Amino acid sequence: MKLGSKVIVGNWKMYKTVTEAIAFVDALLPKISNYKESVLLAVPFTALWPLHEKCKNTPLEIGAQTMNSAEEGAFTGEIAGRMLKEAGASFVLLGHSERRRLSGETDSVIHKKVERALEDNLLPIVCVGETLEERKEGRSEEVLERQLKSVFEGLKWKGDLLVAYEPVWAIGTGQTATPDIIDNIHAFIEEKVEALLGVKPRILYGGSANSANAPTLLAIPNVGGLLIGGASLDLESFLSIIENSHSFQ
Ligand code: PEP
Repeated sequence: MKLGSKVIVGNWKMYKTVTEAIAFVDALLPKISNYKESVLLAVPFTALWPLHEKCKNTPLEIGAQTMNSAEEGAFTGEIAGRMLKEAGASFVLLGHSERRRLSGETDSVIHKKVERALEDNLLPIVCVGETLEERKEGRSEEVLERQLKSVFEGLKWKGDLLVAYEPVWAIGTGQTATPDIIDNIHAFIEEKVEALLGVKPRILYGGSANSANAPTLLAIPNVGGLLIGGASLDLESFLSIIENSHSFQ
């Protein structure tokens, strides 16, 4: 995986069957074939293996949207990191706010998942972000600090590190955080993570990014890329964002 200065990560959530995923990737690959930097796409588990062969020796890296913290075991319905790795995943999203809210993932569970992902040679992309209520109460930094501390404290890792700042109020709402908020929060996250791990993280922004606002978001100096939900499902929108990011490399 070769990370450019602005990394684009799509998150398909629970959209696209295998047939739909293959059609999308078949159309995307010829358009990005001469790119040197990787484009990342977090797909449903079922699409990993079918996309694996297609993405070999291409700039497209496929990954998963969650995993279990155990190596293997009697955990009905769960998936292990090494299963994802063998099925073709090179990265995994961890701590997405939809997982925190819908599946009760706590910071300490996310910490264990990050450890396991690193053991299984998967690059974790750790998502953090405050809710609207927390922002209104002026507690954004306090919440982010707690999330970062629980997830990263005690981790022995000196390699690439991707953190996605995804304010919960901006995900799927059409309401993007302002450049000022993003700039301040990214600086805050960078400082906290560096203090915890001694590693400078790359910080992605996520929350209603689309082809229209991507040029503004990507131009913010401490935005290391974008995590894109809805707009990654549409080929034209996703391509337009990728092409824009390419102009910064
Ligand atoms: C996401 O799911 O991580 C996300 C940022 O979604 P959206 O782009 O749709 O807001």
